[in-house]
Amino acid sequence: MGSMHTGLEGDPNRFDELAEFYAARAKGGVGLIVTGGYAPNFAGRMKDKPCAFDAEELVDAHKKITTAVHREGGKILLQILHAGRYGYHSSIVAPSAIKSPINRDKPRELSEEEIEHTVQDYAKTARLAMEAGYDGVEVMGSEGYLISQFLAPRTNHRTDAWGGVLENRARFPMEVVKSVKKELGKSSILSYRISATDLMDGGLEPEEIIWLAKELEMSGVDCFGTGIGWHESLVPTIAAVVPHAAFADSIHQIKKAVSVPVIASNRINLPSTVESLLVAGKADLISMARPFLADPDFVNKALNGDADKISVCIGCNQACLDHYFVNKTISCLVNPKVMREQVFASSSTGIARKVAVVGGGVAGVSAALEAARNGHEVTLFEARDSLGGQFILAAKVPGKSDYGRYIEAVGSQLRSGRITLCLSQAVGASDLANNGFEAVIVATGIAPRELDILGNDNPKVVGYEDVLNGNAEVGGKVLIIGAGGIGHDVALFISHMDSPDISELDAFEKQWGIGRERDPQKSCREITMLKRSEGPFGKTLGKSTGWILRQELKDFSVDQIDGVTYRKIDEQGLHVEVGDESKILPADTIVVCAGQESENSLVKELENTGLSVHVIGGAKFAGELDAKRAISEGVQIANAL
Ligand code: NAP
Ligand code: SF4
Repeated sequence: MGSMHTGLEGDPNRFDELAEFYAARAKGGVGLIVTGGYAPNFAGRMKDKPCAFDAEELVDAHKKITTAVHREGGKILLQILHAGRYGYHSSIVAPSAIKSPINRDKPRELSEEEIEHTVQDYAKTARLAMEAGYDGVEVMGSEGYLISQFLAPRTNHRTDAWGGVLENRARFPMEVVKSVKKELGKSSILSYRISATDLMDGGLEPEEIIWLAKELEMSGVDCFGTGIGWHESLVPTIAAVVPHAAFADSIHQIKKAVSVPVIASNRINLPSTVESLLVAGKADLISMARPFLADPDFVNKALNGDADKISVCIGCNQACLDHYFVNKTISCLVNPKVMREQVFASSSTGIARKVAVVGGGVAGVSAALEAARNGHEVTLFEARDSLGGQFILAAKVPGKSDYGRYIEAVGSQLRSGRITLCLSQAVGASDLANNGFEAVIVATGIAPRELDILGNDNPKVVGYEDVLNGNAEVGGKVLIIGAGGIGHDVALFISHMDSPDISELDAFEKQWGIGRERDPQKSCREITMLKRSEGPFGKTLGKSTGWILRQELKDFSVDQIDGVTYRKIDEQGLHVEVGDESKILPADTIVVCAGQESENSLVKELENTGLSVHVIGGAKFAGELDAKRAISEGVQIANAL
């Protein structure tokens, strides 16, 4: 399992929780875990809350982690990460005093003496890791942190022995590796996370990376983890838009150059991808991180022929990275039990009840699965002939096909669990009351909000569901009303319509200029997004993914107008006011993406039945509806029955 910052690294008082989090993954079959990054000294910390492992007093807290993982038969490496200029605090240091575009503070240049001390600090952390029972360490040498900053000409302008030619810029990682190796001895693992491609102007060239890998191997590295890009790279590296294993070829170049094992990573989330990479010889081992948040039992399921039941990580970043960025402990959109393993282990009431779940969207499905796991007798009713609700639509959006895989996986879990699944069955209150149910979970979701202006029945006006389902014709001039997550997704979907038939990987590399000049695809439609509120578009999109969607729409020349008042629709188009100006916006198609309203008429019907009724997801509250809340409510209610 690759390193992930959980948000608890700087909080030794909560290492019991961290220990159970890692132990659950070891129990699920993960062979080797790498912790989140621990700084070798105070200056190298990521945030104000120090997540350094630099003192004897911390050893006992770390022992909780290693003991729990070893108890489950796993192995665990401590990652040593010096953030350099990427630290979010005011005393950051770097090889040169050059500010990062993603950080508000300028770093202070390290003196030569400080560099030598820093090397020794890495060694000390390695020694402490051994005392704490870790099976080795991983030196973080990628993603733009301190070691990358030493290696790259763009961030290392030094003129002493630590800067200049590549051999000098590489002196720091070489010294770190040698000093750490001395502390580890022969039986512990020294992994080095190398940047397989920097994706940065002024980063290392491919042949320099190969040279570095060979030199590091000679300096004592036992295996190479791989990282892709720097955090400031203007290329997505782990978001859902990145095709599976998109960077495997860069990783393969390293494998060909060294004799120690090389570990592939980045956008690998399915056993089939793991297998194809290994069979093709692209890497020796595979590292995944977020997929083990989504499903701690990933490995065991894959080994036991249950790959179809793995809860697939959808690459949304909404509860993992986006939580970390706002100083929240990480979780997972599809698995809200992450970092709360202890809470959920003992939360069931232990009384088996006959439970009806109405609605087979993600809220209902998660409630049904969790209720069945807790021993309840569960029947799931869904009016449509398929499960998934809004995720079925999301899966149609370019780059979101994993949403569909997630639905398939939970469908398999439902079918193999002790759950009665009733598709194409709309139930009413009397059906539920007359069939002996003791509790009803209403997860009937949402209905798209209709447009409330004159001419809304014009044939040009279509709903987003019909567009995404392919049930509406989309003309050459398109207006999109509403610019929430769905408005943006629909704009992207329409931009891609009728685009040339090239492979997903080819399109991705052209779009983001990987190994070639940027050459984004063009849309054959004129698309304009509209919203009533004033201000920039896309402010509600995820922090770590919103910029990608905004850039894609810009590349597709999607127009955006804010501060719009809608007046009416007729054959001429959409009549609007923007500021003091009245305009007619010509349109062949007007797509309504104006949010949603709760679909919960069943709740009223159930009022006098005496049944215990619980409402979750969109049926409870449609404003700001998101799948993270819906799934979390499903799991929580099932544990409270
Ligand atoms: P939303 O985020 O609430 O956005 C609704 C949009 O419709 C707003 O832009 C609003 O803008 C407009 N609107 C609201 N009432 C209107 C009315 N009566 N007439 C005309 N326009 C109206 O809802 P959504 O886009 O349907 O998304 C639903 C949920 O799914 C959200 O939580 C969203 O974050 C999530 N989601 C996220 C993503 C993503 O992050 N990529 C993708 C899909 C869905 P004005 O009021 O300014 O006009
Ligand atoms: Fe994957 Fe999204 Fe869960 Fe993060 S929050 S682990 S990206 S499914």
